[in-house]
Amino acid sequence: MQQENKIFPGRISVIQRKLADLKIHGLIFLNIINIRYLSGFTGSDGVLIICPDRSFLLVDGRYTTQAALEVQNIPVIEYKDKVEGIIQAIKDLGLKHIGFEAVSMSVDMYNQLTQRLDDEVLINIGDDLKFLRAYKDETEITLMKKAAAISSAAIAALIRDIKPGCTERELALQLELHARRAGADQLAFEAIVAAGENSALPHAQPTDRKIKAGDFIVIDFGVKYKGYCSDETCTFAFGQLTDQQKNAYQIVKQAHDDAIAAIRTNVTASTVDHCARSVLGEKYGQYFPHGTGHGVGLEVHEAPRLAPNSQDVLEAQMVVTVEPGLYIPGLWGIRIEDTVLVKENSCEIFTKMDKQLLIIN
Ligand code: ZN
Ligand code: ZN
Repeated sequence: MQQENKIFPGRISVIQRKLADLKIHGLIFLNIINIRYLSGFTGSDGVLIICPDRSFLLVDGRYTTQAALEVQNIPVIEYKDKVEGIIQAIKDLGLKHIGFEAVSMSVDMYNQLTQRLDDEVLINIGDDLKFLRAYKDETEITLMKKAAAISSAAIAALIRDIKPGCTERELALQLELHARRAGADQLAFEAIVAAGENSALPHAQPTDRKIKAGDFIVIDFGVKYKGYCSDETCTFAFGQLTDQQKNAYQIVKQAHDDAIAAIRTNVTASTVDHCARSVLGEKYGQYFPHGTGHGVGLEVHEAPRLAPNSQDVLEAQMVVTVEPGLYIPGLWGIRIEDTVLVKENSCEIFTKMDKQLLIIN
């Protein structure tokens, strides 16, 4: 708790120091994940207002007690109506140029606010906050390593449950049980357990399809631990594979390994994506329809973005995934994903599963 008392004021002061450069008198946060990051409040709704010398957390009656328990150093104000609460705060504080994140405000709320404001102006500064949570501090890194250890342990435990005739749906349930027993607070996203032709769908949902010989089984899994996400994908083989399947697995593994080897501070995200994509080459490149990776933190998908057209640059303390895939429609798919911490000359892999081809019999 002692440590947390310093973390949140430290994060808020980073924002406060930016206000003058952004030419705004205050900043309204509506994104509940950013509010959690800056204040420690874990509720599902609220407003954080940051001014150069003070901050306020606005919540509705459901969260007044919780916010007072979770948030130190920031006064908590209860509102009956969210728009009213924001207008009242803007007027009381005398804010004129007010920053906000357009991506987190509905058109309806924007219209309501602007109709009620007089000479005050709302200014979208979303682009300037893009990397707000991208650099992880030591506390965050510790929590993310723990989240990764829990989800890897759950995948490892699941291997023993994979039997002929069991369904994707049953395996997804077992996976969640293993993870919750290992200490997961919740899933970071709905688990993907996709076998055979279903593994060719990058975002498949578990079905009643039964596991059978010759299947690839793609398991994309992540948990939340104290708010922080993990993200890992293993592709297992069930029974004997064809030579083409075995060869394709090795190609995706090489793409994964080459991309991981390219990660270091100051490398462009598009370069890392290219390292993976070029291994797939002309033959298989057309079957890799998504980016090579993404940032992970309080959200499972956050900045930066590792993709061909990304302008992002990787820097130390960022945590990103590397997840090349290969999906042959109607037949099978392969994805191999690790979550890594960017370091000065390399990266540290958080996720624990070995990515050599595992054949389960
Ligand atoms: Zn994933
Ligand atoms: Zn991912």
